[in-house]
Amino acid sequence: MAYTPPDSIFDLAPRELKQAVAEMGQPAYRAQQLSEWLYDKRSRSFEEMSNLPRGMREKLAARFTFDPLRLEKKRVSKDGTVKFLFRLGDECDIETVLIPSETLNAEGESKRLTLCVSTQVGCPLDCKFCATATLKLQRNLSAGEIVGQFMLAQRETHRRITNMVFMGMGEPMLNYDNVMRAVETLTNPDNQVIGPKRITLSTSGIVKNIVRMADEQRPIKLAISLHALRDKLRTELMPINKRWNLRDLGRAIEYYYNKTNIPVTYEYILFDGLNDSMDDVKRLAKLARRVPSKVNVIPFHPIDFTNPTGFAAELKATTPEKFNAFIAQLRALDVTVMIRSSSGKDIEAACGQLALSNTPEIVV
Ligand code: SAH
Repeated sequence: MAYTPPDSIFDLAPRELKQAVAEMGQPAYRAQQLSEWLYDKRSRSFEEMSNLPRGMREKLAARFTFDPLRLEKKRVSKDGTVKFLFRLGDECDIETVLIPSETLNAEGESKRLTLCVSTQVGCPLDCKFCATATLKLQRNLSAGEIVGQFMLAQRETHRRITNMVFMGMGEPMLNYDNVMRAVETLTNPDNQVIGPKRITLSTSGIVKNIVRMADEQRPIKLAISLHALRDKLRTELMPINKRWNLRDLGRAIEYYYNKTNIPVTYEYILFDGLNDSMDDVKRLAKLARRVPSKVNVIPFHPIDFTNPTGFAAELKATTPEKFNAFIAQLRALDVTVMIRSSSGKDIEAACGQLALSNTPEIVV
């Protein structure tokens, strides 16, 4: 945990970039130019920033590193999903997934191109169904390492990344400051890398930071990994429920909505015989009605490759019949339901499968 990544230029939030440029004795418009090189022109070194004075480029290079991570490998699914393996300065690895949506535009291209970004190396939360949990927490990512995933993934595709989700490795709410700093950089209105409404942060339910996000009026979207509506089961699946139970979580979500007016998304994996009954439908519908929301039902993606034991080894996906019946019943109760795609399942890139477990086929 002792490793602190060197300051990358991608660590700086917009106001810090301005300040750093001012400290170099440069006028304010130079910060704008620098920001354009970084985020509009997506340059790869200070050297190529030809309209900045040579002395300033040298100072920048002496003070800051550039890319905070490097693309080590990538693996492409038959459905078009791409999983990147990025290596960090301390040789830790993280995964990032680029997912084209299944709906196509008139040109036959997918409408959305979503990047699923990691926020920690590993994760401390020990959710029983999630492969990342087996890695335990190694460390938080810096803001630059979060921004860097976006910038490097964008270099790898000719199409613009339209959406971003903090649903990769780690719990974003346990690395709150760096995640929000990265959000500020990527949503800086001067550069328009991505709009805040196209960013979703998913949390297992870190109540204190849901409240903080509400108080700070962060304009991004919030998703909650719910997965169970009875405390006993939720605690078994997600030990964080011991710290903040369903009642705490429900209250925090209400607080969040009242402060921000932004509807929330509930994520709900359907496990066979555990949380797929009609009683669960009713409880879920009741919660979903408390504030404007939608429910994202997620098929359970197998994590056998992590060799689960105990309770984790018993978890199974619900049957297709029960999956469809669950959704139909929820819809009958007027809940807005989406089905999370399993894009990238063949390359262990689907939700919950990120664990650096397999050797990607394509070496960059
Ligand atoms: N730690 C955050 C961010 C991870 S988001 C969170 O918990 O929300 C990844 C999403 O995939 C979460 O909703 C998570 O609960 C879900 N997930 C984890 N393992 C899964 C699996 N094996 N199959 C399907 N979804 C899974």
